[in-house]
Amino acid sequence: MAKTILERANRVLQYANYLAKKTGNQSVMNRIEYVEIYTNGYAEPGYKDPESGVIVIGNWNPAGDRFGELISELPVFLRKAFERLDCDIQWDDQWSACYGCNKLVRIHPDCYTWKISAAVVNECEFYCHECIKDDPEQYVEEHLNNPKKCLTISVDLEALGFTRMDFDGEWHFGGHDKTPTEVAKGISGDFVFVQDSAHQFGMDYSVWVREPKEEGSQ
Ligand SMILES: [Zn+2]
Repeated sequence: MAKTILERANRVLQYANYLAKKTGNQSVMNRIEYVEIYTNGYAEPGYKDPESGVIVIGNWNPAGDRFGELISELPVFLRKAFERLDCDIQWDDQWSACYGCNKLVRIHPDCYTWKISAAVVNECEFYCHECIKDDPEQYVEEHLNNPKKCLTISVDLEALGFTRMDFDGEWHFGGHDKTPTEVAKGISGDFVFVQDSAHQFGMDYSVWVREPKEEGSQ
């Protein structure tokens, strides 16, 4: 069944690309060209995969020129066509696909308590929290000894030799005003900061430490 819906969704998109080309307008063509169909579901916590198995991301606003004049409502009609097929519809500036599993993860907040469940590893590879948890070493390594970065994904730090520092890491609201850089000054050994939760006016974080592997090493 999912395959049939996928096939139909692909046909709808093909037809929309054809109609976009007929307008001869580059921005309409680009808009439809960037619409993407995904079938591996969500890796975002709290999201349930659609029964159709098909998620489509795009920019669904009507296409306009730089003066705000309407050029084409094709994106709006396309969205409606996908909705009729029971596809989940998302915005392309709010979601991104994992390099590893191709599941979709939110990259834009939708509430005060949201924190990102994905990360860029090796400079340009975007991975979801599920893939990072499978192989967290590189992710942790890239956040090591840097108080300006923090893990947002909870990985098994004990397995990597870290222990949680005894520290009340509530930032700002009901907590303290010490910056992570100031906190880091008092730490000997390797450390990583972990964002445990987010709130409207503050956040909770913890600091995890481990003995350096060998003396003099970085
Ligand atoms: Zn993944």
